Amino acid sequence: MKKSFTNVLGTILVLGTALFSASAQAQEKARPNILWLFSDDHAYQAIGAYGDRFADMNLTPNLDSIATQGMRFDKCYVGNSICAPSRATLLTGKHSHKNGKIENRGDFDHDQMQFQKLLRANGYQTAMIGKIHLSGKMQGFDYWEVLPGQGKYENPDFISEKGKTQYQGHSTDIITDRALNWLSKSRDKSKPFMAMVHYKAPHRNWLPAERFRKRFEKLVFPEPETLFDDYSSRGVAAQQQNMSIEKTMNNNKDLKANRWKFRDELLNKSGLTGKELVRAKYQEYMRDYLACVAGVDENIGRLLKYLKDNDLEKNTVVMYSADQGFYLGEHGWFDKRFMYEESFRTPLLAKWPDVIQPGSVNEDLVQNIDFAETFLDMAKTEIPSEMQGKSLVPLMKGKTPSDWRKSLYYHYYEYPTGHRVRRHEGVTTGRYKLIKFYGLDVPNGEEWELYDLKNDKHEISNQYANPEYSGIIADLKEQLQKLRQQYEVVDIAQTAKKKKSNKSNKSNKSNKSNKSN
Ligand code: CA
Repeated sequence: MKKSFTNVLGTILVLGTALFSASAQAQEKARPNILWLFSDDHAYQAIGAYGDRFADMNLTPNLDSIATQGMRFDKCYVGNSICAPSRATLLTGKHSHKNGKIENRGDFDHDQMQFQKLLRANGYQTAMIGKIHLSGKMQGFDYWEVLPGQGKYENPDFISEKGKTQYQGHSTDIITDRALNWLSKSRDKSKPFMAMVHYKAPHRNWLPAERFRKRFEKLVFPEPETLFDDYSSRGVAAQQQNMSIEKTMNNNKDLKANRWKFRDELLNKSGLTGKELVRAKYQEYMRDYLACVAGVDENIGRLLKYLKDNDLEKNTVVMYSADQGFYLGEHGWFDKRFMYEESFRTPLLAKWPDVIQPGSVNEDLVQNIDFAETFLDMAKTEIPSEMQGKSLVPLMKGKTPSDWRKSLYYHYYEYPTGHRVRRHEGVTTGRYKLIKFYGLDVPNGEEWELYDLKNDKHEISNQYANPEYSGIIADLKEQLQKLRQQYEVVDIAQTAKKKKSNKSNKSNKSNKSNKSN
């Protein structure tokens, strides 16, 4: 049963203390630690366990071990495929229109209900280390140490209650160092912990630690089947985005040709053009991106080893996910935002000894609105009624409720900033996906697309105008309306903002969101 946030917090504060002292020892043994590992823009295609085109290269042995020892979720999706809004959803268990964070720009209301506040009030030690990409002071954490905004790959600054500190090294290594420091030295070991370890990698501009760059510089990666998608069956949104490897990906800024001579020779001075240049850029992009992923994987290995070496493995749930998926050349793109599978989907792996059956696979429709509820359920803490997702614990136990959702809602807002992806909302049943692009710069105010993923897994054939699908389209439109009602979707006005205004930046924010990405 769900209760309101105020009631839940009140109940916890009044009754929690009394109950805690009496049964603390027994209860704490029953409640698991939670290690939530999270990265930025990590496509499921780039995790071996998902069996995509890089799987044979054994690039992610530690992440794969979480799947082998636990559960791989194959239909995990986000509600809004972009960084800061996804993180706001993670903390609140709500879609963007409810937590107020619809785009990267703008502030996040930290005073609102967030799951970690409830966990902390209910006896958990809570920590947030790494990239959160939400401006302002974190709340509900016993310890937090975060990158300001997007953060830096090299020698990054961190912000905590104590102010700013710079560490020397690569961000992926340092975030792990800081997490291990907290786990081993700072936490209260008499309480269960919930530690969120959030990597910046493999976010753009995909700068790996040098040891990984060297390891990947000669590797050659398979191309996606849709690298040269011509968008012929789609509307204006796919045709007029600004996120293609061909036109948008910059040789210097993105592929670092001004940093590495070999890259400069290849991309700027070799005379490559057309498809050959796209292919060369794709290979360099993959070398950097997958080298960043390998860095995350190696560091996750360090954290898993810590758990094992310190007798924490058995009673710690380890979960891995990312703030959304990413295009690794599919449809000719990098970046995210669209409701097409590669960015709509996100990886989710979970290991929980004696609860999750090793090597299991879940194919239910799950979404990032479910994460907060899942943590609360694991911690035997009541779930507030205002949260919009559902606990995944029954699914982890192999017992999907009979009334589990049959369709998912999606809504992307950030236009025209970023990569010029038009606003859209949509619904998927797993097999069919209906998308409505709308608003600024969409002909006649709206354009619809329908994909049949069983017959068209790469989503290259829009069936919206095909009369054979008219019944399915009508049914999906009805489901879309039902989901809008269920989630209490409000239409948020869209205004064109041609130029970023420095004046709008509040001077008291030291932890700013990055507006361009
Ligand atoms: Ca992201």
